[in-house]
Amino acid sequence: MTAEIAYELRGVGYRIDGITILDGIDLDVRYGRVLALVGPNGAGKSTLLSVLTGDLSATSGAVLLDGRAVAEHGAKELARRRAVLLQFNQVSFSFTTYEVVEMGRAPWIGSGAGDDEVVIVDAMVRTDVTHLGSRPFSSLSGGERARASLARVLAQDTPIVMLDEPTAALDLKHQEEVLRIARELAAAGRAIIVVLHDLSLAAAYADDVAIIHEGRLAAYGAPARVLTEGLVEQVYDTPVRVLPDPDTGRPIILPRRGLAASSR
Ligand code: ADP
Ligand code: MG
Repeated sequence: MTAEIAYELRGVGYRIDGITILDGIDLDVRYGRVLALVGPNGAGKSTLLSVLTGDLSATSGAVLLDGRAVAEHGAKELARRRAVLLQFNQVSFSFTTYEVVEMGRAPWIGSGAGDDEVVIVDAMVRTDVTHLGSRPFSSLSGGERARASLARVLAQDTPIVMLDEPTAALDLKHQEEVLRIARELAAAGRAIIVVLHDLSLAAAYADDVAIIHEGRLAAYGAPARVLTEGLVEQVYDTPVRVLPDPDTGRPIILPRRGLAASSR
């Protein structure tokens, strides 16, 4: 089960208006694992997620979902297969938080799958938004919105979950909780793809890290193998230090702030 491949990408490229946004991406995304997608602003991470979801069609190469071209899966089939937390959540003005989470169940209407209310309540407990259920979604803070949107994605209850910068608006505790949820989902056999800017957070929780740089896959593998000083400095064009976490041994990536002050 854990070795099964959710997505297989071969030479995937995306061009629009003569601009190459993704180029030659080869990548396997496996069930039972957390894959962190990292890379500088504008590298192509969100575009890659859109190609995986099928919202954008790759202009070259092949994107296989469960062994079949993404485009061959019907819309309903896709909605039951993968869920996406978008980087920019559209505000659903007139809905309560509970109703927004409930929208995640839409692909399952009439399927007889699970008890909708149980799934919704579980998703809200896990993301710590139960107390916000009757509040208008538009009245939530940025972090509360992000968590309620994550609850909607969890309520969709799909084998593949993609999260685009889910921690950007969150405080320390809730950041850790989101990544813990990602780990739990992977432990239950799901494929998790999460876009993160915090490289230490990626290193702490991901099984695999893929670095996207100028539309290409710069590196892919275990965090300690991929998140090296040399590669991170090259990709981000800024000096860093990589230290082992004293508790876990996983890499912690720090900007080198002492350089300007020191004599060198
Ligand atoms: P990331 O999520 O890594 O920050 P994106 O995937 O959002 O990056 O964008 C990658 C690059 O592609 C950016 O330079 C962005 O401006 C550009 N881009 C994205 N969509 C379009 C589009 N429809 N037309 C032209 N350029 C685009
Ligand atoms: Mg993005």
